Amino acid sequence: MEKFDVTIIGSGPGGYVCAIRCAQLGLKTALIEKYSTLGGTCLNVGCIPSKAWLEASEHYHRLVHDFPKFGVTFENPAVDIAQMHGRVKAVVEEIINGVSFLMKKNKVMVYQGTGTIKDKNTVKITQESGTQTIESANIVIATGSKPSSLPNVALDKERIISSTEALSLTEIPKHMIVIGGGVIGVELGSVFNRLGAKVTVVEYMDTLIGAMDLALGKELQRSLRKQGIEFLLQHKVTEVIRTGEEVTVTAQALESKEEISLTGDYCLMAVGRRPYTTDLGLENIGIGTDGKGMIPVNEQLQTAVPGIYAIGDVIKGAMLAHKASEEGVFVAETIAGQRPLINYNLIPSIVYTAPEVAGVGATEEQLREQSIAYKVGSFPFKANARAKISMDTDGFIKVLASAQTDEILGVHMLGPRIADTYIEAVVAMEYRASAEDIARMSHGHPTFSESFKEACLAATGGRAIHM
Ligand code: FAD
Repeated sequence: MEKFDVTIIGSGPGGYVCAIRCAQLGLKTALIEKYSTLGGTCLNVGCIPSKAWLEASEHYHRLVHDFPKFGVTFENPAVDIAQMHGRVKAVVEEIINGVSFLMKKNKVMVYQGTGTIKDKNTVKITQESGTQTIESANIVIATGSKPSSLPNVALDKERIISSTEALSLTEIPKHMIVIGGGVIGVELGSVFNRLGAKVTVVEYMDTLIGAMDLALGKELQRSLRKQGIEFLLQHKVTEVIRTGEEVTVTAQALESKEEISLTGDYCLMAVGRRPYTTDLGLENIGIGTDGKGMIPVNEQLQTAVPGIYAIGDVIKGAMLAHKASEEGVFVAETIAGQRPLINYNLIPSIVYTAPEVAGVGATEEQLREQSIAYKVGSFPFKANARAKISMDTDGFIKVLASAQTDEILGVHMLGPRIADTYIEAVVAMEYRASAEDIARMSHGHPTFSESFKEACLAATGGRAIHM
């Protein structure tokens, strides 16, 4: 029987990053993946294909709506959905192949098959050709998550679909009804809206992207509404019925109790994801799951069984690829005897709509709840020269700083290229910068990032220059 120091079950951004770090640390490492491709949800049916669709659809949208204003015209712009599809697939394949290469380079032993934990040191791998068993001093569970649905709605995967099917649609829907105004709902809603579909988002809460600072959801809704997406907030979906090629969604207004029926050709269920532990054999080692199906872990991300760890979407915390990867590195280093740290407060949330959205640290609502005295500085992109140049004037940067010490406690941003520029806020907060520190740093002109400096100036005595 082959013996390993570490065996990782699941090859998503948690599992494959953990495998690489284990190998770097000299640990003999096995990675088990039940699908034929590595990369998990993120690479196959999540982050990468969704961002590739967002990129392609944004090009089309800008070509039609913005390019003529820049003086660039194009006769009969059109969407070639097959070409778009092909490109998304090619990007996904290239990145997956990159992960396979990294496994070989780092001498990680990859097994294709379903991993089931038999006991604390034994994993059975079920493959098409049969089964084999390996021994391991440590086991890392990185089995990720699957799309959820509403209790009374079954996904038929043809017309009532999850993000997985939405990412491989080969036609542009006429009317897509999106249930859920969270990150996946607004991102995929944006894709199909830009490609010409009518899109209606039905959301139970009174805001979009409800886990983020409330100001972001409001501004995002305003911006997406201008782009043509319709919203029904504070509505509870009571029924979803498919009739032939049509889907009817019935929803009830939370306050008035009035019922509304929407008919479309696709219903995208985007109400969240649930941890995935099927066939894992948790019962063999006495590990249970909590009420949400998550595997409980301690501060070392170790389960109730010593030597068995769990990371990523299958444990508590935000379901994000970069959070899973940080945990993968953390567990590898813990097993190697190091004492790593993860600053969960500084794991950013990002939404890749246009405008993009990002938040890090405390929201205004959290500071209020915790009775922490704070100051706010906000700066709108409509006053930023670079944003005017690129016609990206929606949004703002909001800085929350301690009223006593001026330390930056949270930064919430909505605007152009935010998914890349937000990192300045993370670095500032990691080094415990004050708003004054940032306000005193020279930011190149004209850049989008000047808005961060201006928001810090606004937070420190209302000193924003361009407002
Ligand atoms: P996963 O990526 O889910 O990987 C788990 C792997 O384990 C899978 O490959 C599965 O097949 C395998 N597995 C399960 N059970 C077994 C078993 N018993 N044996 C062998 N293998 C098994 N996050 C971001 O940070 N940024 C984004 O832009 C982003 N966009 C997203 C867009 C969409 C549409 C979706 C659905 C998700 C998105 N996410 C994004 C979330 C991100 O994909 C997940 O948080 C991330 O993939 C979780 O990583 P993981 O390693 O925990 O699990």
